[in-house]
Amino acid sequence: MMAYVKEFADYPPEISQQQQDFAVGQLKNYALSVGFTVKPFAVQTDDGPKLPEGAVPAPITLYPSLFPKSCFEEALDIQQSYNTLYANITRDTAWLEDIVPQLAKIDDFVENLWNIHLQLKDGGYTQPLTLGLFRSDYMVHLDKTPGSKPQIRQVEFNTIASSFGGLSTRAAQIHRYLLTNNIYPSTSSSALSPDALAPSDAAAGLAHGLANGHKAYLSHTKPTMEDTCILFIVQPSERNIFDQQHIENELVNTHSIPVFRSTLATVLTQTHLTDTSVLIYTHPSTQRKYEVTLLYYRAGYAPTEYTSPADWTARLTLERSRAIKCPTVLLQLAGMKKVQQVLALPDSPHLQRFLPNADTERLRNTFALMYPLDSTPSGKEGQAIALNEATAKGYVLKPQREGGGNNIYRSDIPAFLKERPESEWGAYVLMQMIEPPAQRNTIVRMTAAKEGQGVVGVVETGGVICELGIYGTCLFSMAGQTAGAVQSNEVAGYLLRTKGDTSSEGGVAAGFGALDSVCLV
Ligand code: ADP
Ligand code: MG
Ligand code: MG
Repeated sequence: MMAYVKEFADYPPEISQQQQDFAVGQLKNYALSVGFTVKPFAVQTDDGPKLPEGAVPAPITLYPSLFPKSCFEEALDIQQSYNTLYANITRDTAWLEDIVPQLAKIDDFVENLWNIHLQLKDGGYTQPLTLGLFRSDYMVHLDKTPGSKPQIRQVEFNTIASSFGGLSTRAAQIHRYLLTNNIYPSTSSSALSPDALAPSDAAAGLAHGLANGHKAYLSHTKPTMEDTCILFIVQPSERNIFDQQHIENELVNTHSIPVFRSTLATVLTQTHLTDTSVLIYTHPSTQRKYEVTLLYYRAGYAPTEYTSPADWTARLTLERSRAIKCPTVLLQLAGMKKVQQVLALPDSPHLQRFLPNADTERLRNTFALMYPLDSTPSGKEGQAIALNEATAKGYVLKPQREGGGNNIYRSDIPAFLKERPESEWGAYVLMQMIEPPAQRNTIVRMTAAKEGQGVVGVVETGGVICELGIYGTCLFSMAGQTAGAVQSNEVAGYLLRTKGDTSSEGGVAAGFGALDSVCLV
C-alpha cells in the first residue's frame, strides 16, 4: 500500500528530450490509428463556424498514472450497489418530490426538467423501463497521519451523458502499446509493468448496456414496426464525436442495431409520435422509417442547450414516447449534486432505505463531507463554513449543473455567495475538497494555434492529480415492487482523467484535463 506514495519519487522515469519527442510521436500515430481522437476547434467559414473535416489525438498523459490497487478494486466492487442505489432513488418519485420542488423554485433549469415530470406523472408516462449509463467519479484521499491507507472519495455520480467511455478503452491501449513496444525509457521504476496496467472495456460495456435496453424493448414493449433503431440525442458541433462513435460502432457491428443521431433542435422534424406514443424516426436521406426503441442522451444536461421553448417541447415529446430513455428526466434529476449531499448527511437514513442489506457502509466510506446552504441546521453550518475565507478554502461550491466549468472554488466562495440573495443559496451544495497526493506526469495535448494555423501539439510536464470514473449500466422498471425492479446491473469499465495540480477543474472536454489509464500499485 505504501508503494503508492513511495513510488512517486521515481515515477515516471527520467527521459531525455530526444526520447520524449520520439515517444510523443509514436503516441500520436498510435492514437490516430485507433480512433483516440477529437475534432479540432471550429474554424470560421462563410457559413459561420464549422468543425474541420479532420481529427486530432485527444489529450492524454504520456505515462499511465499511479493508482492504488486497493482503491481501484474497491471502486469497481461497489459499482453495482451504486447502480442499484440510483435506480431505487429514481423509482421513489415521492422522495424526489421532497427535494426537487424547493430547488425548482430557485433554479430555472431544474424547474424546467421537473415540469416535464409534472406534466407526465398522471398517466403521461408510457414506458416503465429506464436505462442508466452511469459514471461514479472518485479521487484518492490520503490522511496526513502516518501509516493511513489511501481511500476513494466520490466526487460525483453522473446519470446523464457520462462521456469518454469510448476513448478510455483506447487510452489504456495506447499506454500498453507504448510499454510493450519499449517506447518508454528502460527504467528503474518497478511500477511500470504490463501486469500493472488495467484495460478498460468501457466502449463495449456501455454498448452492451444500450443493447440490453434495445432488447428489452423488443421483448417487453413489443415493436409495432419491423425496422427498429437506437437514437442518440447529441449536441450540434460536438467535438467529442469519436468517443460516441466508438459506442455506436459496437452497437452496429457487434449487436447489429442501427444507430442514428439527432439534436434537440432537429429531432421533432425527424420523428413523430403515433397515437399510441410509438416514436417513429424517418431517416432524412433514405426516408426509411424506424421505431425508436431507445433514446440515448449525450445532450440535454446543460441549460444553454435549450435555446428556445421548442427545445423543451422536444424533450417533453421524447419523454412522453414509448422509447426507453437513457436517462429519463427523473433519472437525470436523481444525479443532482443535491441528492448526493442529502445522502451524505452524517445521520442520513436514506442510504439504508434505498440500499437495504447491501454495501451501505462501503458506499458511505466514499462520501466526502457535504453541506446544504439552506435554512436547516446543517445548512446554517454550511453557510458559516462557506462565508468564512479561512474555512471556505477547503471547499468547493457546486450548483445543480453538469458538464464542467460550473463550480466555485475555495476562497472565491464567500464573495460569490455574498453577491447573491440568501434565498438563492439553497441552489448550491458545499463540498469538502478531496486532496489526492500529487504525482508527476506529462500531458500531450493538441490545441488550436492562431487562427488559420491549424493545431499544434503542446507537451507539458508537472504535478498532476487524477480522477477515476467507474462506468455502470442499469436497466430498471419504474413499476411494481422494489424487489425485481432492477433487470440488469453491470460494471462497464473505467476512465482515468488527469489534470495539472494547479487547475481546479478536470474536464477533458472543457480543456482542463487529459485522459489517462491506471498503473496499479
Ligand atoms: P461536473 O458534473 O460539472 O463534472 P464535478 O462535481 O465533477 O462537476 O466537478 C468538476 C471538477 O471539479 C471535478 O472533475 C474535479 O476536478 C473538481 N472537483 C469537484 N469536486 C471536488 C472535490 N470535492 N474535491 C476536489 N476536486 C473536486
Ligand atoms: Mg457531472
Ligand atoms: Mg464531473
